[in-house]
Amino acid sequence: MSKKALTLIIHGTPISPGLAQGIIHVHRSLLGPIDVPVAIEQENVKEEFTRLDTATARISEELSALATRVEKEIDSRLAQVFGTHQLMLNDSSLREELRNEIVGNLVNASSAVKAVFLRWENRFLLMESQIARDKSDDMRDISRRLRHALAGITTHPLEEIPDGCVLATSRLLPSDTVFLAGRSVSAVLLEYGSTGSHAALFAREMGLPCISGFSDPLTTELQGALALVDADTGIVTIHPREKQIAIFKKKFVEKEHDYKLARSRARGPAVTKDGVTISVLANVGCSDDTKKAMLNGAEGVGLYRLEQAYLGRVEPPDTDELVSEMRQTLDPAKGSPVYVRLLDVGSDKPLPFAGFLAESNPSLGRRGIRFLREYPELLKTQLRAVLELASEFDARILVPMVTLPDDVSVVREQLAQLCTRLRITSPPKLGAMIETPAAALAAQEIVKHADFLSFGTNDLTQFVFAADRENAAVERYYRDASEVIFRLLQLTHDDVPDVPLSLCGELAGRPEHISSLLQCGIRTFSIAAPLIPIVKETIRNSWCSAPPDTLPLRQRY
Ligand code: PEP
Ligand code: MG
Repeated sequence: MSKKALTLIIHGTPISPGLAQGIIHVHRSLLGPIDVPVAIEQENVKEEFTRLDTATARISEELSALATRVEKEIDSRLAQVFGTHQLMLNDSSLREELRNEIVGNLVNASSAVKAVFLRWENRFLLMESQIARDKSDDMRDISRRLRHALAGITTHPLEEIPDGCVLATSRLLPSDTVFLAGRSVSAVLLEYGSTGSHAALFAREMGLPCISGFSDPLTTELQGALALVDADTGIVTIHPREKQIAIFKKKFVEKEHDYKLARSRARGPAVTKDGVTISVLANVGCSDDTKKAMLNGAEGVGLYRLEQAYLGRVEPPDTDELVSEMRQTLDPAKGSPVYVRLLDVGSDKPLPFAGFLAESNPSLGRRGIRFLREYPELLKTQLRAVLELASEFDARILVPMVTLPDDVSVVREQLAQLCTRLRITSPPKLGAMIETPAAALAAQEIVKHADFLSFGTNDLTQFVFAADRENAAVERYYRDASEVIFRLLQLTHDDVPDVPLSLCGELAGRPEHISSLLQCGIRTFSIAAPLIPIVKETIRNSWCSAPPDTLPLRQRY
């Protein structure tokens, strides 16, 4: 009789929720073929330059097509990644370095690509932040693309993975994530990847359960083993017993049922058990995001991240270009409220034309409104564009990264001046993003200039806990659902009880915290499109006031 393998339970960090069952497929060769440098003669140098240029031009075209496809089919933020790859690939200093490598070391184009990109990758890897680590993934991804093009390889390294498997691998490069979009992988287990990484972003958009932080997901003993992946809790049960499978299946069926019910009711209003109607809006970056959101029951756009209109441009857009971009993005939400956030650059959102923003501590530097105050023309262009848009849309304005009350009053003044000039009598409502502890604690002063407040808990958490939201090394300090954050929300609400409060950070999309958020006075939630049905359904089962069974006993009689 064959011996049954022992059940193994491993814990990781959930980076994309969901439940899945499948056979583990350990994948090792994501990192590309390991080849030795190929020497060439001096007379072949020109030929290698030409091969490199041809491959670069081909890849550049491929990347631009890929960016368009990903924006349409998956997510605008992931599409930006490929737009950036294209910019990197065509960077003149990088091209120069590649040519120097070929002539200097007399190696072929492929070997030069490998050596140069590896140097860049390692430079980024030495840096602490997740942004730099993502850049190192980007370098590895472009390098692999280029080397495959030079070698005439047209298949993707993940081609061999079986349908329905639980993929276990070290890390996912951006192109791997897009490749997986067309496959039926049931879950992914990673060694590296924080909640802010590209891999996490992709997995959440695709509804693919994903857990990271396994010290060695590549252990071959796990190859072929049955796994129950609970990416809601980060627990994976390998070689489960019958009883564990049955419990897991029950949980799975219950979740499926809840989700189906939520989808069927997604277009209806989200009214709490005590009769309060809550607005559920969407976070968007491009028109496809808005389309998906409206189909999923969004009641408008709660956060339009304007950065999309600026990224990948050599010059910032003028008013007309901006209006046309905004109109296109927001069109599916016409007739519903749309909140346009002014450009929030700096830190994790760098701009190609603002290279001067290099700062030693960018998260604490010229971000959001700080940057716009320094470049008032950029601010004016955006306000003019929103004013123009307001004749067609129910538009409102959000000011990002407010710290001081005058971060809002300067925008209010600019807006008033423009309205006078354009003879507009009712300007759009103006709101402050509460993303710094100073802003939360100064709400009473800020609302003298703002009509509403919107909590950006992604940033608020990083400043409250002094933990970079992109840095996996300090992830355990980044606690966006901790009591500390809820206290700050409650305190702000108590300070300005009559001011409309919304929340557009990731926390707004986590059903288990909806009830606490409602009790802290949040009345508008803005979240990613796929989360809308389940968040609405959760609101319908929650209370705005404290639920009756938590009241003191004497009040119940
Ligand atoms: C936030 O900080 O919570 C937020 C919504 O803004 P972003 O994630 O774009 O910085
Ligand atoms: Mg923010």
